[in-house]
Amino acid sequence: MKYSLPKKAGVRMIPVVDLGRCSRCEGCIEIAPEVFRYNKETGCIEVIDLSEYPVDKVDEAIKNCPEDCIFWDE
Ligand code: SF4
Repeated sequence: MKYSLPKKAGVRMIPVVDLGRCSRCEGCIEIAPEVFRYNKETGCIEVIDLSEYPVDKVDEAIKNCPEDCIFWDE
């Protein structure tokens, strides 16, 4: 699979989770385990630091997040 990043004037975009709205349903981890993980210590979902993100998978996670709390950011 080819990975690419959404480009905004050459700025690197990363997926971000709004933890204030996240219900910890772990749906994003099921869809994109290479991007999202559950941090047992903080009890929160976190985005794994990658040099490139699989846009299709992240977009799928965004589309399916029940709390609508995943978004692309700079
Ligand atoms: S799918 Fe959305 S609500 Fe569920 S754990 Fe991931 S970010 Fe949180």
